[in-house]
Amino acid sequence: MSVSLGCQCLLHRFRQWLAARERRSNTTVDEETARLKTAAKTVQAELQKRADSATGDARAVLEATAMMAADPMLLKSANALIVAGTSAERAVWEAGAQVADMLRGLGGYMAERTQDVLDVRSRVVAELRGQPAPGIPTADHPFVLAAEDLAPADTATLNPERVLALITSSGGPQSHTAILARALGLPAVVAARGVEDIEDGTEVFVDGAAGTVLTGPGDVERTAAVIWAEQARSLGTYSGTCTTTDGHRVPLLANVGAGADARKAAEAGAEGVGLLRTEFCFLDRDTEPTVAEQSAAYRQVFDAFPDGKVVVRTLDAGADKPLPFLTDASEPNPALGVRGYRTELSTPGVVDRQLKAIAEAADGATTDIWVMAPMISTAEEARRFADSCAAAGLKVPGVMVEVPSAALTSRTILQHVNFASIGTNDLTQYVMAADRQLGPLAALNDPWQPAVLELIRLTVAGADAARGETDHDAQDGAGGDKSVGVCGEAAADPALAVVLVGLGVQSLSMSSRALAAVAAVIGSVSLADAQELAEKALAAPTALEARAAVRAGLPILETLGL
Ligand code: PEP
Ligand code: MG
Repeated sequence: MSVSLGCQCLLHRFRQWLAARERRSNTTVDEETARLKTAAKTVQAELQKRADSATGDARAVLEATAMMAADPMLLKSANALIVAGTSAERAVWEAGAQVADMLRGLGGYMAERTQDVLDVRSRVVAELRGQPAPGIPTADHPFVLAAEDLAPADTATLNPERVLALITSSGGPQSHTAILARALGLPAVVAARGVEDIEDGTEVFVDGAAGTVLTGPGDVERTAAVIWAEQARSLGTYSGTCTTTDGHRVPLLANVGAGADARKAAEAGAEGVGLLRTEFCFLDRDTEPTVAEQSAAYRQVFDAFPDGKVVVRTLDAGADKPLPFLTDASEPNPALGVRGYRTELSTPGVVDRQLKAIAEAADGATTDIWVMAPMISTAEEARRFADSCAAAGLKVPGVMVEVPSAALTSRTILQHVNFASIGTNDLTQYVMAADRQLGPLAALNDPWQPAVLELIRLTVAGADAARGETDHDAQDGAGGDKSVGVCGEAAADPALAVVLVGLGVQSLSMSSRALAAVAAVIGSVSLADAQELAEKALAAPTALEARAAVRAGLPILETLGL
């Protein structure tokens, strides 16, 4: 969605610390372990200080990294090496490598933490040596940051005024680095080829939307970058209302992970929260949070939208987001395993306790509160979830449609629940059988794929049928009205957002940063235009052709540089 020209490229690599003092000299085991303990504590305190001054995802990532500095496994392994005669520097270096290997072996979300451990060990070694912590290079002019990978702790605190774009040679599209760069609004290309060979000072052109990096750009790219920067500035902020030219309203909501994100979303004009990823509140927990803890976390989000809607998604643990208290790390195929709503099977009661916490948080709140379950595959699961919501006193139950079976059976599913929200990230990975974390499968993992668009169309058609069959008197005015929204990343692509509206999707939920662009593009077409573009997208034989056909019908994209 964005293009940026870097005047300079500072190639930043994490320093390869070669601990010179292989063996201890003149110090005892006790002295060396004490040095290590003090250095680790200092690093932890420094990271925690940075966490305290951050918000949202950045804060959560920094807190998790700070905890890593005090990780008992890391320190225990390092101490064992010290006892065997190694210096504290060497010990923490090697212990860090062992822990990183183990995390890498676990795969998924745990593998994404590898970079945290490697970052922490570099920081501890620097502290032991009395040297400055490794980090982002500084420059007196804006630059594109090129790196093998960045520690989340560094990504979280990048200054978007100085760093124009981010390119890394490793990392997947769902890695922490990619998620945080998106939250900062930085064009980012991860898993980019040839990044290691770029010399400091090289001029590069980064197209975050196309995922391309070009060295030695010409006048065309240079002009495009300048125009994009001007247009990004002029796009401004979301007014709080999104309407087509003929007055069709499309509520734009925000995807958030916690209270701080929700407050930012409210400031950005979001009309509510379309997806509260509750698992983000508890990623660093190894025991189930109490009902009181959960309720306090959710209440913060409700309080950010006293007059708006908040859609709470129950815990979506598993696959790339394991929660130690819920998921089994040894599953052979976690994306197809006990994840999302299915964790109710392995941990009976976890959903009911969460619903109780949501109901407690809702008590006295003026927010319009809807609740949905992730990874619903059958109408029977939807019925059970609706019963649990009713037992907890929660009036608007819904489901996420992210498994192809749910899209195909939305009519029967929506006979039990009030609304559906399409999670295009997972829907795409499941229908295309392409892991959403893998850079090399990005072309398959594209929500413009004909199969994905067709599943969205079928979901809406099923919902329309269910609405026609609903006994509205029996619904007790609860809300939802069998509506279909989209809360996957597809909603944040302005051209695809128009297609979704044309397909009959009623609300869109996205990162707050995308609101202004999506509203501007939807505001440039009538509902009939959107329907016509949706037809064109559905008729296209490939994702590329669908995107091209729709973009050709939306001249505003060019004008806004989107
Ligand atoms: C999705 O799958 O599209 C979705 C919104 O859920 P998550 O990205 O949290 O899996
Ligand atoms: Mg999902």
